[in-house]
This record gives sequence, structure tokens and C-alpha cells, in this order.
Amino acid sequence: LHRVHLCAGVTLFSEGDAGDAAYLIEEGRLEILATRSGGDLVLACRGPGEVVGEMAILDGGKRSATVRALADSVLIVITREQLARRISGTDPILRMCLSVVLERYRATVARLEGAGGRPAAPPSSETHNPSLYFREAIETLRLEQEIQSGIDRAEFFMVFQPIVRLETGHTVGFEALMRWQHPERGLLPPSQFIPVAESSGLISRLTLVALKIVAELIPRLPDCNGRDGPGPGKLFLNLNIAAQDLFEGDFLDLVESLVRGGRFETSSLRFEVTESGLIKDPDRSIATLHKLREYGFGLAIDDFGTGYSSLNYLSTLPATAIKIDRGFVRSMMDDPKSFKIIQMIVRLADELGLPVVAEGIERPEQAVALNGMGCVYGQGYLYGRPMQFMEALSSVVD
Ligand code: C2E
Ligand code: CA
Ligand code: CA
Ligand code: CA
Repeated sequence: LHRVHLCAGVTLFSEGDAGDAAYLIEEGRLEILATRSGGDLVLACRGPGEVVGEMAILDGGKRSATVRALADSVLIVITREQLARRISGTDPILRMCLSVVLERYRATVARLEGAGGRPAAPPSSETHNPSLYFREAIETLRLEQEIQSGIDRAEFFMVFQPIVRLETGHTVGFEALMRWQHPERGLLPPSQFIPVAESSGLISRLTLVALKIVAELIPRLPDCNGRDGPGPGKLFLNLNIAAQDLFEGDFLDLVESLVRGGRFETSSLRFEVTESGLIKDPDRSIATLHKLREYGFGLAIDDFGTGYSSLNYLSTLPATAIKIDRGFVRSMMDDPKSFKIIQMIVRLADELGLPVVAEGIERPEQAVALNGMGCVYGQGYLYGRPMQFMEALSSVVD
């Protein structure tokens, strides 16, 4: 924590200064002053547990008042950068409300300062742009509503991308990927709706949609016919699930009803989860993963190496496979570091007895190199793009 010690009588900042920090008052007492030709006018006093200087760092404007210590004080500093990073990462609707509140507050202050007062310092456009925030918020609200009605009108569907054994190129399963046939905007990829679905909570409804579709299709998958090692076995489907699914009830409820329905071997369905998804509520998430394993579902750690504390989590996760992110594969032939990272992941997975699937293979030389390292499975445009189920089925007929 960055603290400032202020002796009684010392000015913390003056009206018109650039605002680069706000202060949490830990101890002491401060007064807020408006400097007028006739002398200083005390606007307010603030004590422990209160904040001064928040306005300017919120909207990037100049200090609208002077703050001085009435007693020896200890303040905790919040910098503009700390705040800006948080605000820019936050929900557009929250951001819009915040900017509206600030706007109104500034206007009120300007009015109260009256005819004699100068207008309040204009905010900088860098952190404060009401019309932009407004547009983003409306866009997000609209998208949320459209996702809702899209679910009701069954506009979401799944496409299937082959997962192959690198050695033979034979398809052993598919990753199910979601698409949205939007009535006006056309066919939308997940990047256009998954993030909003995640921040609004709608993702759990999309997961249910995906799971129902996939559960209908699994019984129609053909046998593997020895493509994936000796013995019988069906082709499998991989389904991406979100962090939220792991600590909210509806997902497990549907999973359990599918298990009870008994229409397919649970080992034909493998859930893909990202490590970063587990951070919100690790205990409950990991408990859910164990339940899924007990039912016999597979569990792939998605985008391995791109999240936090991969190694830490790996030891506690009941994983059955690891997926290497497309980012590493894309650069592996040009960037020795990516190559080494993949090598390390494959070796680590081998030690743990987990098969590896490399994502985003587009060129034969990537496949050759991956196979050479001991990565058994691959996925990418080289083998097939995501496609409709019927097309996916006919692609495996040998
Ligand atoms: P992901 O789980 O990493 O899925 C792999 C993505 O890489 C897919 O993008 C796939 O089409 C793309 N891809 C595969 N091979 C290649 C290749 O060779 N080259 C290139 N350039 N791309 C390749 P997609 O379908 O756009 O999905 C993006 C992300 O959206 C997925 O990343 C996943 O995180 C999320 N997602 C997709 N479907 C679902 C879903 O049903 N539920 C949830 N929660 N998330 C989903
Ligand atoms: Ca995935
Ligand atoms: Ca992913
Ligand atoms: Ca990925």
C-alpha cells in the first residue's frame, strides 16, 4: 500500500491541479475548500473511512476544489492508472452509469458555484466519453436481449471440427463449436456473443442449449473402428463450458438428467474448461469437475499455458486431456520459444499420463513437428474446418 503522511495545515492538492490520484483517509481530518477572491470557502470535511480526490481521477478532469489537512493525517493513495485499468475492464453498462453520474455531479457543482464561480474544469476525453459509453452500453443491452430471444427462437447451433490422430490423420472425435444464425446480422462466431453472454450470466443458458444439441447427436456418432487405438469405442464430442457452469446449479442438473436418461456412454462426451475459468470459485469448480469425472465424462484443460498457475491447478484437476492453444501452434515454426513451450507441455502431460491435443494446425510441417514431439492428437484447418453435423459425419466415412 502506498501511503501519504500529511501534517496539519498542509495542502494535499489545489483547485485546478491535474488530478492523478484519489486518497482513502486512514487517519486524521481534511477540509475541502473552494478558493474565492474573498477568501477560502469550506465546502466539506472528511475523516477516516472517507475518500477525497475521487472526482478528478474518475473522469480525468482538473481538481474542482482544494484539500487541506486539518489534523495530522494518513492517506492511502489510489492512482488514476489503477482506477482507469479497472474502469476500462468493467461492464459497459456500469461504465455508462458512472459517466452519467459524474456528468451530473460536475454540472451540479458548476451550478452551485454560481454566477461568480468559474465553470467546472472540463473532463479530458481520454477517460470520459459519455457518448461512447452510452453507445457501448446500448449495444450491450441490445445484444443481451437478442441472445435471450435468439435462445427462444433456436437461432444458436453447433458446428463440429475434427480432432485427429496426428500419426494417421484419422478423425477420432470432434470439438463442438457454437454459431449464431442472427436474423439481421447473419452468421456470427462466438467472439461476437460469448463475451457478452459471460458477463451477463446468459452463458449458462447457452451452455444448456449446446449440451442439449450435443446430447441428441452423440448416439448418432459412428464407431471409431480402431482409429483411436485398439478396441471398440465411439467417436467423441468435446463441448466447451464456461467458468460459471461449474458453480451454478442448472448445468449439473441437466448433466445428471442426461446421465439418468442413459442414451449415450458418458465417455463419448468430453468437457473443455479453461484454467482461468476456475479462479473465481476454485473449490466449487473443482468439486463439479470431480463429479463430472465420476459420471465418466472426459475433461480437457483448454488453452493450456495461456492462463494463470497452470502447474498449480493441474495437480488438483481431474483432467483426462490437455489442449495446447492455437497461439503456440501458430508461431511454433518461427518462434523457438513457442516450440519449446509446446515441447515442455507435451513432456509434462506425458509425465502425468495425459494425452495432448494441439489446436490450430494449419500447415503440414506443424503436424509433423508436433507428432515428432509426442503430441498424439491435433485439430485445425489442415484437417477440417468446423462444419455441420451431417458433413462432419460423412467426413469420417473411410
Ligand atoms: P477454443 O475453445 O479455443 O476453440 C478453438 C477455436 O479455434 C475455434 O474458434 C476454431 O474454429 C478455431 N480454429 C480451429 N482450428 C483453427 C485453425 O487451424 N486456424 C484458425 N485460425 N482457427 C482455428 P471459434 O469457433 O470461433 O470459437 C472461439 C472460442 O469461442 C472457442 O475457442 C471457445 O472458447 C468459445 N466457444 C465456442 N463455442 C463455444 C460454446 O459452445 N460454449 C462456450 N462456452 N464457448 C464456446
Ligand atoms: Ca475449446
Ligand atoms: Ca477456449
Ligand atoms: Ca484455444
